[in-house]
Amino acid sequence: PRLANQIAAGEVVERPASVIKELLENSLDAGAQQLQIDIEQGGVKLMRVRDDGNGIEKDDLPLALSRHATSKIYHLDDLEAVASLGFRGEALASISSVSRLTLTSNTGESAAWQAKCEGRDMETELAPAAHPQGTSVEVRDLFFNTPARRKFLRTEKTEYNRIEDIVKGLALSRFDVGFHLRHNSRLIHSFRKAEQTLEKERRVAQICGAGFMDNAVAIDIERTGLRLWGWVALPSFSRSQADLQYFYVNGRAIRDRLVSHAVRQAYQDVLYHGRHPAFVLYLELDPANVDVNVHPTKHEVRFRDGRVVHDFLYRSLHHALADVRP
Ligand code: ADP
Ligand code: MG
Repeated sequence: PRLANQIAAGEVVERPASVIKELLENSLDAGAQQLQIDIEQGGVKLMRVRDDGNGIEKDDLPLALSRHATSKIYHLDDLEAVASLGFRGEALASISSVSRLTLTSNTGESAAWQAKCEGRDMETELAPAAHPQGTSVEVRDLFFNTPARRKFLRTEKTEYNRIEDIVKGLALSRFDVGFHLRHNSRLIHSFRKAEQTLEKERRVAQICGAGFMDNAVAIDIERTGLRLWGWVALPSFSRSQADLQYFYVNGRAIRDRLVSHAVRQAYQDVLYHGRHPAFVLYLELDPANVDVNVHPTKHEVRFRDGRVVHDFLYRSLHHALADVRP
């Protein structure tokens, strides 16, 4: 089974940023309100996510680190099939197979416990620990036992930047949660819980730059079960990043051609501007009308009626932008 873990880990654990994504999603799933993220050396030496979520019971700690569905992989031929199913229930197992992982947790009902797991060694050690309610996952020495993977890592700066991108992307999807990111013991970003519009705009400015917010048009349009809200920057926003485009469907980050097309088309039709727009947009619709699980790692969606969604996005943006056209 440990071999299977290492094969699967190749898929889910590509680089430090993919570890951070899994850890943060777990913390959010556990209802965390505050997330402390500590990174050392671009994540290769250490990644630690500490949350104040529900925690994990002592008896469940080894379970959390074990592969739920080992039977999925028996042959290399199966890899394709597994990849398309995703790795539900397997992220921690995969990560622990290529690192030194420590899981410490407290459900708030009794004392805290810690489980350790190192590389291929399946034995999980359990020991009492000190931890407030919530969970800390510490991942040290990523790929220490898979030198081939380690070789593919880029510079510390590049790997750190990818981690930062993941944190920013998630922070834009959960204004109600605080995110605090440290790199090499230095506090780099502190995104405080944001409830009011002004607080949200402050977070967007922290993430996208003050220039984005200063030149942004706020949008909030709702029509027949569809709601589009967020911000689009006018062409007066001169940015360094080529690609400042965040789009969320029911809170999940997605990249979708239909969506990009609708946004770009409205932008160009109103502003006669050939450039790709910068935006942070949220589409909310009945979950029955969208399938966001087309591929768990590829951020794809499938709308039940793509034409209706395209039309709604185009019209909403056209309307909002036409209002402010210089
Ligand atoms: P999945 O999230 O798909 O269930 P994971 O391997 O990511 O699989 O996590 C395994 C299990 O460990 C989760 O289902 C959850 O019960 C538990 N878990 C992981 N991280 C946390 C956390 N931060 N807080 C509480 N429970 C957690
Ligand atoms: Mg998970």
